[in-house]
Amino acid sequence: MSDTIFTRIIKGEIPCHKVYEDDRVFAFLDISPLAPGHTLVIPKEPAPTLGELSDESAAAVGRVLPRLCRAVAQATGVKDCNILQNNGAPAHQVVMHVHFHIIPKPDAAQGLGIQWPAGKLDPDSGSMMAQRITAAL
Ligand code: AMP
Repeated sequence: MSDTIFTRIIKGEIPCHKVYEDDRVFAFLDISPLAPGHTLVIPKEPAPTLGELSDESAAAVGRVLPRLCRAVAQATGVKDCNILQNNGAPAHQVVMHVHFHIIPKPDAAQGLGIQWPAGKLDPDSGSMMAQRITAAL
């Protein structure tokens, strides 16, 4: 399978504004930011979606994500942010290489806008769903 644009960025074949790198993780500025400081945090492992990522890469990303959030907040002066992680085209994933967006929320006009069509959890179906998820782990 051919490299995604993010693998090519990790390899240095495509330029980026890098903010962090270690042996498993790479982070750089999003080329189309929703707000100043919009940063992408990616594992070097080229897993397309989060569910396909190894525990080791997931742990490595999780270990640095809070530190990167603090750095983005300090650099932008914006303490509020959203972490966004899309999986699959219907869920708005465009680049098929796992990535976490750190999106500062400076005000209502900038940053992530969210539609949240909340339902109501029925106790019986909730109980069944929780059992099914637990059994699938
Ligand atoms: P997603 O919709 O979650 O797959 O988001 C992919 C993100 O990658 C978008 O926010 C794009 O702006 C960003 N992106 C695509 N190409 C590049 C690039 N060459 N450098 C930096 N960010 C990019």
